Amino acid sequence: MVRVSQGSSKKVVGVLALQGAFESHKKVLNELDVVSLEVRTPQDLPQVDALIMPGGESTTMSQLLESSDLYEPIKKLIHEGMPVFGTCAGMILLAKKIIDGRDDQISFGAIEIEVQRNAYGRQVDSFEADVEVEGLVPAFHAVFIRAPKILQAGKDVEVLASFGSDVVLARQKNVLVASFHPELSQDGRIHELFVKEI
Ligand code: GLN
Repeated sequence: MVRVSQGSSKKVVGVLALQGAFESHKKVLNELDVVSLEVRTPQDLPQVDALIMPGGESTTMSQLLESSDLYEPIKKLIHEGMPVFGTCAGMILLAKKIIDGRDDQISFGAIEIEVQRNAYGRQVDSFEADVEVEGLVPAFHAVFIRAPKILQAGKDVEVLASFGSDVVLARQKNVLVASFHPELSQDGRIHELFVKEI
């Protein structure tokens, strides 16, 4: 299959569109003048240069990744260095270890973090906070919704933002993760950070 984006100057950012908040990510990318594509089948993958995994429900997304036959090809592309950005449930999907996951829940194991699902409390306990992000002034107004908490991070994980003592934005090589929802803040700066890596 031909990578249609190759050779053209415009990079295409795929947004995993199996479930969850993919529309909001597309909106931010559109505002940044970045071309996006909803990824639902393995046939969509050759057309993208990078992939965003949105927030939503990681258990459901895990099941849909398997039933859509997307899990293996995405895993291979991440291993080959495709930039990937997971937000909230998307971060859970990329983590090495999940605490309080469902027994059959799978993840890509692409970043050396241990995450605990829903660790900040239930839906009513969702909250917003200004977080200092490496290289960004002023602080980023972050929206946390049934957010996962990073309990541990490996030595190769770069911390880009913390909230209190918790790491909330981190990177390891081509993998960027946020425990909050940067697509809901009317602020494209974190998406810009990601797009710059492509
Ligand atoms: N709690 C959800 C999960 O475990 C993630 C929440 C979100 O993405 N807003 O998948």
